[in-house]
Amino acid sequence: MQTEEAFVTPATSLEQRITERRRNDEWKKEPRRIEAAECIGCDSCMRACPPQFSAVYNLGLDVVIVPELCNGCAKCVQACPVDCIYPDAEWQPTEESLWTYVEGQENFRAAQ
Ligand code: SF4
Ligand code: SF4
Repeated sequence: MQTEEAFVTPATSLEQRITERRRNDEWKKEPRRIEAAECIGCDSCMRACPPQFSAVYNLGLDVVIVPELCNGCAKCVQACPVDCIYPDAEWQPTEESLWTYVEGQENFRAAQ
C-alpha cells in the first residue's frame, strides 16, 4: 500500500502569502531589503513594486520590504534614487505586528 505524501501547494497569491505568512517556495531570487540609514523615504519603491507582490510598506519612520511578499524582481531597485535596496539572503520571518499592519493596508486597498 502506497503512503500518501503531504503536499504543500506554493503560496501563489498575495492573499495566500499574507494569510499563511509564507513566501512562494518557487521563487528562486532572494528577497530585497531597504537599508534604513541610507533611505530618504521617497516611496518610489512602493510605487514601483508590482501590485501582485505589494511587498513594500511605509511605516512612517521607515519604509520596509516584507521578505515573504518579495519575489526579488528588483523593480524597486531600478526606482530607488539612492540605491539603498539590497539582496537579503539572510532574511528573517516578519514579526506579527508588521503582518497585522500589512493585513490592514491590504484590506483598506481592497475596499477602495
Ligand atoms: S524586488 Fe520586486 S517584489 Fe521585491 S520589493 Fe522590490 S519591486 Fe517589490
Ligand atoms: S526608493 Fe529608495 S530612498 Fe525611496 S523610499 Fe524606497 S528605499 Fe527609500
